[in-house]
Amino acid sequence: MTKRVGVIGGGQLARMMIAPASELGLEIRVLAEQEGMSAQLAATATGDYRDLETVRAFAADVDVVTFDHEHVPQEVLRALVADGIAVHPGPDALRFAQDKLVMRQRLAELGAPQPDWAAVSDRAQLQAFLDDHGGRAVVKTPRGGYDGKGVRVVRAAEEADDWFDAFAGEPILVEELVDFTRELAQQVARRPSGEVVPYPVVETVQRDGVCAEVFAPAPRSSERVIEIAARIGVEIAEGLGVTGMLAVELFETTDERLLVNELAMRPHNSGHWTQDGAVTSQFEQHLRAVCDLPLGSAEPTAEATCMINILGGPEGVDIDERFAPAMEAYPTAKIHTYGKASRPGRKVGHVNVASDDIGDAAYTARAAAAFFA
Ligand code: ADP
Repeated sequence: MTKRVGVIGGGQLARMMIAPASELGLEIRVLAEQEGMSAQLAATATGDYRDLETVRAFAADVDVVTFDHEHVPQEVLRALVADGIAVHPGPDALRFAQDKLVMRQRLAELGAPQPDWAAVSDRAQLQAFLDDHGGRAVVKTPRGGYDGKGVRVVRAAEEADDWFDAFAGEPILVEELVDFTRELAQQVARRPSGEVVPYPVVETVQRDGVCAEVFAPAPRSSERVIEIAARIGVEIAEGLGVTGMLAVELFETTDERLLVNELAMRPHNSGHWTQDGAVTSQFEQHLRAVCDLPLGSAEPTAEATCMINILGGPEGVDIDERFAPAMEAYPTAKIHTYGKASRPGRKVGHVNVASDDIGDAAYTARAAAAFFA
């Protein structure tokens, strides 16, 4: 019997599961937030993912529920589990990706390397942390942040007053400002039955808090860094009981340590390169994992793959009419489009180029992406 996978959330991550689902012989259904979402093609329902009855009705006739984002509330997830529905990743794992303070506490218990951090509820506590860390720190809202929103570098405690007010006595997260040479991301797939497969660690470049470029595998990495990153990823996937794809965002420090920044439990922007540069794409792997099917190889198929995000440009730029010229100019560039209306800074697509040379891959991917700027 065909297995039915229900994806909550209709963004580009759900959209990019549609093609591999059909290749795997799975039926995919999407609960989209509204009409016209990126994953519209597979949307069988629209509605609020925070509303239990909406989610329950959607989940009633699928075999497994998974996600395009981490925002479904714990109460809703736990009610589904109580109904006997397979939810992957499950609420016990997902809470570590939903709340950065809960994540920091659990990673400390697991002994994972991470920046110095503290939970602070007022100015005095934040000032004490600043005094201990050279007068600079990064404050983060524990929940609801994405693409750098909810992250702020502070040099004085009063710079976080608005967040203390907004969180009304609930603690927020403060971290040391890490002196990193670059950011890396380690992906791991894990099945409910326990099989784990790590991908090669990649380098990610963020601009204005948004992922801009990914180089896979991470160039100029020592064997030690590659091994440690994979071990951190596998230990977190196992330690937190993650099912599906896990992304561990890492800082590589100036003194060559790896520190965990944050976690995502779903396909991740740092893994888009796998669509055209690995034996098994992260989207196929996520579906295999949540359906408890044997995992595919995560080996790269090329020496180097570069991924460049396409962001919506200035008002008046019609993204759609740029595709054909970009494809014509760079036939080795794989251009992926999300079917989203273009707004300045919004992720609307990406370009992957695989090559035997990272310089060529980066040049071609950037040149193709430049058609959309
Ligand atoms: P988001 O949840 O919005 O993706 P992150 O926690 O990943 O937020 O932070 C966004 C970016 O801010 C990171 O990619 C990194 O560049 C920077 N950043 C976050 N935490 C720190 C830190 N402790 N030290 C230095 N830079 C940081």
